[in-house]
Amino acid sequence: MSLVRSLERAEVDAFYTLNEGRLASVTREFTEHFSGRVLYAVKANPLPKILHTVSRAGVAGFDVASLAEAHLVHSTIPGARSWFMNPVKSRRDIERTFRDLGVRDYVFDCEAELRKLLEVLPLHDPEIRIYVRFKCSATCAIIDLNGKFGASPAEASRLLDLVNAQSRWTTGLSFHPGSQTIVVDPYLHGIRAAVDIIEAASPAPTALDIGGGFPGHYLNFPYHSPLRMLSEITKLVRRTDALKRVELLCEPGRALVHDSISLFCRVILRKGEALYCGAGIYSGLSPARQCFLLPARAWRGGQPIQTEEWQDFIIFGPTCDSMDRLGFSYSLPRDLSEGDWIEFQNVGAYTDMARFNGFSVDKIVAIGQDELTMLPAAIQ
Ligand SMILES: *Cc1c(COP(=O)(O)O)cnc(C)c1O
Repeated sequence: MSLVRSLERAEVDAFYTLNEGRLASVTREFTEHFSGRVLYAVKANPLPKILHTVSRAGVAGFDVASLAEAHLVHSTIPGARSWFMNPVKSRRDIERTFRDLGVRDYVFDCEAELRKLLEVLPLHDPEIRIYVRFKCSATCAIIDLNGKFGASPAEASRLLDLVNAQSRWTTGLSFHPGSQTIVVDPYLHGIRAAVDIIEAASPAPTALDIGGGFPGHYLNFPYHSPLRMLSEITKLVRRTDALKRVELLCEPGRALVHDSISLFCRVILRKGEALYCGAGIYSGLSPARQCFLLPARAWRGGQPIQTEEWQDFIIFGPTCDSMDRLGFSYSLPRDLSEGDWIEFQNVGAYTDMARFNGFSVDKIVAIGQDELTMLPAAIQ
């Protein structure tokens, strides 16, 4: 069903649009600007259609955080390779991903996690590559991950020695500067810290994974474009001798997927300057809960409303929970009323499809192609 017909029919109060062409071109540009392997971080959006599109557009594999994600990749794209880059894994997940799903790349950041890997995986298999995740000293991320993960650089060196002493595995290093990192500096710091560790290690690690975290476009943050960040990263890598024989990887999620999905919600009730909409933080708008001011526009009669008169609105979702309110007010046409639609753009990353109070959004309209079709899919 076309976008216009979806807007005109009263069947649902919210639906997503997915612009596959946009997703493919963003992914292609990203992979062309990075001088290494680009893995897609599945947790940013695991919709099978997205996995297919980024795979066709040039990603070299998938960063998975659980056995379930590794299964999803395996069953969605036969032959695709997964990297298990969560520093915390159960023994069962390590064993099954290795035995059943062909995973050979694992990350850890402490001795107790290494012990699990040493006890579960075959010690003499040089195809296995084990990455030590270290902490970035400088971060500039809106969502910092260093509090949770990462060994100090000195500890990372010690952990590499332990791997080399006890196995024939290949080693690598990884860091993650945190999600929505808005400038390139933390990546450059991280790469320099990795070089120090690489130069001190013997044998030297053969891979460096600089993580995800590249920023998306939201209205409340200035940010460097990911492509500009990638060219600065490439410049540094090219002039660093210690990285000549090191394979480079990165794991973007948000930057690839965020701006190919919009969420359309119908205005169900207007009460003064409050709008109660067909979707809220429990059904698709979780990115707008606190951190992000999403680009948004209003639609009426199948097209965007043109107006000179604007007003700030408080936006509530449809549930009975008072927390179901967006973290910012949104400037929308002053005469917005029941039955109009609001399009929240750039919701593609970390959109939360949890059902709450019986409200959910499980329709996706494909746009941006020659034909506009309604897909009966739910984001899993
Ligand atoms: C979440 C995560 C990513 C993706 O982060 P984005 O901010 O979406 O790019 C990549 N790698 C790891 C290890 C992660 O935990």
